[in-house]
Amino acid sequence: MSAPSAANPLLAPWSTPFGMPPFAEIKPEHFRPAFERALAEHRAEIERIAKDPSPATFENTIVALENAGRTLDRVSSVFWNLASAHTNDELQEIEREISPKLAQHWNAIATNTELFARVDAVMNSAEASQLDAEQKRVLERTHLAFVRAGARLGPAEKKRLGEILERLAYLGTQFSQNVLADEKAYELPLSEDDLAGLPDFVVDAARKAAEERGSSAKYVITLSRSLIEPFLTFSSRRDLREQAFKAWISRGENGGATDNRAIIAEMLQLRRERARLLGYTTFADYKLDNTMAKTAANVRKLLNDVWPAAKARAETERQKLQAMALQEGANITIEPWDWRYYAEKVRKAEYDLDEAEVKPYLPLDNVIEAAFYTAGRLFGLSFHERTDLPLYHPDVRAFEVRDDKGNHVGLFLGDYFARPSKRSGAWKSSYRKQERLGGNIRPIVVNVMNFAKGSGDTPTLLSFDDARTLFHEFGHALHGLLSDVTYPSISGTSVARDFVELPSQLYEHWLLTPEILSKFARHYKTNEPMPAAMIEKLRAASTFNQGFATVEYLSSAIVDIEFHSETYNGEEPIAFEKMVLERIGMPKEIVMRHRTPHFAHIFSGDGYSAGYYSYLWSEVLDADAFSAFEETGDVFDPETASRLKQYIYAAGGLRKEDEAYIAFRGRLPTVEGLLRKRGLIG
Ligand SMILES: [Zn+2]
Repeated sequence: MSAPSAANPLLAPWSTPFGMPPFAEIKPEHFRPAFERALAEHRAEIERIAKDPSPATFENTIVALENAGRTLDRVSSVFWNLASAHTNDELQEIEREISPKLAQHWNAIATNTELFARVDAVMNSAEASQLDAEQKRVLERTHLAFVRAGARLGPAEKKRLGEILERLAYLGTQFSQNVLADEKAYELPLSEDDLAGLPDFVVDAARKAAEERGSSAKYVITLSRSLIEPFLTFSSRRDLREQAFKAWISRGENGGATDNRAIIAEMLQLRRERARLLGYTTFADYKLDNTMAKTAANVRKLLNDVWPAAKARAETERQKLQAMALQEGANITIEPWDWRYYAEKVRKAEYDLDEAEVKPYLPLDNVIEAAFYTAGRLFGLSFHERTDLPLYHPDVRAFEVRDDKGNHVGLFLGDYFARPSKRSGAWKSSYRKQERLGGNIRPIVVNVMNFAKGSGDTPTLLSFDDARTLFHEFGHALHGLLSDVTYPSISGTSVARDFVELPSQLYEHWLLTPEILSKFARHYKTNEPMPAAMIEKLRAASTFNQGFATVEYLSSAIVDIEFHSETYNGEEPIAFEKMVLERIGMPKEIVMRHRTPHFAHIFSGDGYSAGYYSYLWSEVLDADAFSAFEETGDVFDPETASRLKQYIYAAGGLRKEDEAYIAFRGRLPTVEGLLRKRGLIG
């Protein structure tokens, strides 16, 4: 080892228990030199693999690639975890500097012609047919990743692909900035008289928004979802709701410099050209090729299977809203700007649930215990708190995870409280992934949350949504902890985008089971179990207004898939949106959750283009998977749990997603479970 590694804890061997990063010794100034060294090391490794004079084999190419970049993995995982969960000015500066370097590094590997030639040679060799199932899967996935990045293209095509990607990146940024500009340009000023119906928290938010904007009005409503949605829910001024709503749904479609229509048309055309270059007919074919859904036809089938029930349910809901309006003496027909307002009144009348009454039954420690207990019942895991491990913040808790024979499974870190150094949201990440290629490497997995810490003698109390988030992220954590594969690239959560939410969303189901609630949902002062009536209300509330929510969501998902499949042939985007909505019979009282001119999921980048369906796809999977337990009459049924562990939680990317699911369930999922979960059928 040369001099810098001795002084740099990121590059030196870690002698900490379980090989935890030595957080106390790691300082921001260690990252730049560590990244530099790690990147150089990885480049040299890649160079050796690409220029190896001996014929390409699985061992000297695929295994060598799997083994390459270990230092970079180690430095990156510590860096990105800290940059999200406990950052500071120095780390932020390094982040800005290192992000483009890393992007460039990975892109250079993905488009390395010599390297791809060797991967391709292995793929077409006699050896390929003799590999075991896991090796074949790793080879196929590696090969496909290269093909999708354009490794197969000739120089002129590569150049064109580069131009397309650059232009798409520019247009995507332009798209977001236009939406933002339209949001900034609009405000609905309110006088004291205009506040009718608004609860204090909306009034406060409207005052704050006016201050932040330096507005001449004392209160303003802006088009940010967190302000306009509550305004539409509570304002009894129908004229103002109409004004604000119309402005909200026309973001990106106001003419002038911030209009997104031409940008969308160009993006759709460039995406199709990109797909054709890479050997696909449409952009949806390209995007879906490495997912569980596979084809636009399968996506359409899912959306069409749910659409009629959602529409029928929304119609029932509409009638209730209409009746509520009449009962209140409003002589109106429900319009889109009335839906949230009257839905709130129906909700209050039928399911009113006060969050302040629920929280005392959900102390954080009980919910953590409940998540651990569920993992014990399903997978035989136990969690043992360790106070002797190096951690990056005093609030972080560490647990050693053991299986039913007492063997070490991995480490679980829980970082539960909000603080200024942490970005918002909740997530699962890892400091080390499970694999067996570099020895029996066990994972170190972290859940990061943003709960408000309790104060004085009140423990931290969670809302029901918070508790569900904890179970969700813990499901992702188990997907990492239980992983049992050889090759790092298919470890844990390295599965398709429309499959990765199955372990997390499925886990949420156990929170609402009577067994878990009666054991763990207990009042922090009296230890009384949550009252049955409250549990019933929680259940009922989960299906409230789901016809509306599903129609809002599905219409966006349908427009997305049609734009990116053969249905679209260069039409003006808004005319096309209108045509698709007419074809499916969109209810006139509901507007798409994201209309085309501001549909950031699919146009501000590639992220969810031809992929907005995947939220629902995952939900179909989780509802159907939980039904497998319910059908046995035991939500912890050992045989079902054992298959769930083997084929889903422990399997990483070992199998194609549909094959993994069939191995667990005996068949592909059906939408019945989802329709029941959302209350769309009885
Ligand atoms: Zn998730």
